[in-house]
Amino acid sequence: MSTLRFKALETLPFKDFRRDNSVEVPGKLSELFCQNVFSEETMREYLTKEAFQSIMDAIKKGTKIQRHIADQVAVAMKDWAMSKGATHYTHWFQPLTGTTAEKHDSFFTPIEGGRAIERFSGNLLIQQEPDASSFPNGGIRNTFEARGYTAWDPTSPAFIMGTTLCIPSIFISYTGETLDYKAPLLRALNAVDEAATNVMQYFDKNVTKVTPTLGWEQEYFLVDSALYQSRPDLVLTGKTLLGHSPAKGQQLDDHYFGSIPTRVMNFMKELEIECMKLGIPVTTRHNEVAPNQFELAPMFEEVNVAVDHNSLLMDIMARIAHKHHFHILFHEKPFAGVNGSGKHNNWSLATDTGENLLSPGKNPKKNLQFLTFFVNTIKAVYEYADLLRASIASASNDHRLGANEAPPAIISVFIGSQLFRVLEELEKVTEGKLSPDEKTDLKLNVVGKIPEILLDNTDRNRTSPFAFTGNKFEIRAVGSSANCAESMTVMNTIAAKQLIDFKKEVDALIETGLKKDEAIFNVLREYIKQCKSIMFEGDGYSDDWAKEAKKRGLNNLKTTPEALKQEMDKKFVALYEEIGVFTHREVEARNEIKLEKYSTVIDIEARVLSDIARNHIIPSALNYQNRLIENVKGLKEIFPDKEFKTLAKEQMSLITNISENVSKIKLGVEDLIKAREAAKAVSNSQKQAETYCSKVIPLFDVIREASDDLEMMVDDELWPMTKYREMLFTK
Ligand code: ADP
Ligand code: MG
Repeated sequence: MSTLRFKALETLPFKDFRRDNSVEVPGKLSELFCQNVFSEETMREYLTKEAFQSIMDAIKKGTKIQRHIADQVAVAMKDWAMSKGATHYTHWFQPLTGTTAEKHDSFFTPIEGGRAIERFSGNLLIQQEPDASSFPNGGIRNTFEARGYTAWDPTSPAFIMGTTLCIPSIFISYTGETLDYKAPLLRALNAVDEAATNVMQYFDKNVTKVTPTLGWEQEYFLVDSALYQSRPDLVLTGKTLLGHSPAKGQQLDDHYFGSIPTRVMNFMKELEIECMKLGIPVTTRHNEVAPNQFELAPMFEEVNVAVDHNSLLMDIMARIAHKHHFHILFHEKPFAGVNGSGKHNNWSLATDTGENLLSPGKNPKKNLQFLTFFVNTIKAVYEYADLLRASIASASNDHRLGANEAPPAIISVFIGSQLFRVLEELEKVTEGKLSPDEKTDLKLNVVGKIPEILLDNTDRNRTSPFAFTGNKFEIRAVGSSANCAESMTVMNTIAAKQLIDFKKEVDALIETGLKKDEAIFNVLREYIKQCKSIMFEGDGYSDDWAKEAKKRGLNNLKTTPEALKQEMDKKFVALYEEIGVFTHREVEARNEIKLEKYSTVIDIEARVLSDIARNHIIPSALNYQNRLIENVKGLKEIFPDKEFKTLAKEQMSLITNISENVSKIKLGVEDLIKAREAAKAVSNSQKQAETYCSKVIPLFDVIREASDDLEMMVDDELWPMTKYREMLFTK
């Protein structure tokens, strides 16, 4: 091992190829945009009018595409893809493994007489049957019905990667249950579209479609690939399980927004070129808080496309990083004591008339519309906070949430003090009919004031997991390795449910004789009263907040098993069934998959840690200890007893210290192996995950502490594991 560390280090500073991989942008980025996408413009060129219209209707109205049209589209896609050098096609989908999946088939088809042609038909475009038995299904598919199929999603454009035409698809079982991230997301998006469009009829009858929007911000670490390869924990678990923090970490805050190192810049440039070609509209890049941590963000897009783009991006980032001798880490907490990575999800609702429903308007009428969607979103989060929490739960994100660098596991909403005051005013609205004076006052002094308020609403609370940031809500607790679809499915499902309920309540009041505005004010007033406990403006990282939240009755689901247990609450299952996002069986299956994944991740970490501790750390420590013993023996030989005692004092104490830590590790590993075996034997998935969480994880710290102590004692030349300073400060 020690040779691996030093071999890796040797390759670092002197090899020019790492730095000389310079990248030039060929012309303007705008000219590259969508070059490899079967975009609207390309479709116009390659499709007949009829086929083009049919696709547009499918995207905008969700209408079905007929078989003969699909044939035309397939031929056009093939011709376009081949003109770009593609030889293969694949349905590109997002199974519950957390990565994207593809199985390439060739256009090439042999025909009689020893000849061959390139062929692609509507049938192949619409549906494929990958051998799906090895994807997670949570018990949905028994082996006798192991077939699953992928189905083309025409609402997300096809694209070319390398020499393959990729067709975004959903993945479902033969019996119709969803097996991926996209299918339920599309259901949730349809539901919120319908619900929001219905509510919009109070304000603007021209609105016929509401599309949720998503702008994600992706954080990540880059580690030199040779150093990465030298750390078995990074390779096998995506994080370091051991390692003393470096003398210099992020204390000086000198990395954040600092100048980007050349080698990283080359990576970023190449990445941006690739993103442009694939139609991913990346616009910002910068250093993040931790050393070797960076962030990238695009312009927001429709949720469906934004989700695909994030998955696609994570995939290409990994590949381009390799070209620049980096390994990319999406893990939420790859290094202890250093900030972790998140993926903020900025969410809003946009109408087909070009309005952002979470953006205050120019007149009181528009502002009542804004307040309606604003308050309903808060109410949705209030009602379903635990579900939102569950949607971001994972073994890796547990390390980050609540760790004084990321929002706590308590879901609260930050709206800024000025908007909070507006809501307080609305709380005072009279019940039932409003007097003409009150109406005028509301219009002028409350609702009418909102745009001005927002202009100077500068307090941007970074510690809130769910914050209003001027014209969108930002879900900040999402983990960097997550698929955005999970939190977006929940967000849009709960927004849909809330807007449906709102419409019912307002309509009922209108029935009783109230005017539309009066009815809306009345319902909003009640909502504000109900969900005040979830609004929090203070420091979300503080211990006081945890106490205060408890008083308010908000849940603090600190670990994934706790969050996933809540997910199976009857209220949530009923919600999914009502909105048509998941059946009971689907919710159960997904819950099961997540629990299993959690236990598996912890189990692997336990095994890797035991292995490193016993086979790398202990031998190196003993090796060094033996040197010390030799040294002491030598001193004893050449010095008289009294002098020897003074001279050997430090060595003797080191020898003892090493022994103590070695035995801590040895016992720790024995306990860990026992705890792991006990957890493995638990048959109920929920109980099993809880056992891993409460009995296995705490032992990691015991071993780590002893090992990190040894790292400070053992001769650097004998230490087998690449050190934090080497991984974090190699540029
Ligand atoms: P930061 O959070 O880093 O301060 P901003 O507040 O400027 O940055 O916003 C960042 C993200 O918000 C961007 O990725 C952008 O695409 C997204 N965003 C802006 N408007 C919307 C919107 N209407 N819907 C969804 N996302 C949006
Ligand atoms: Mg942000």
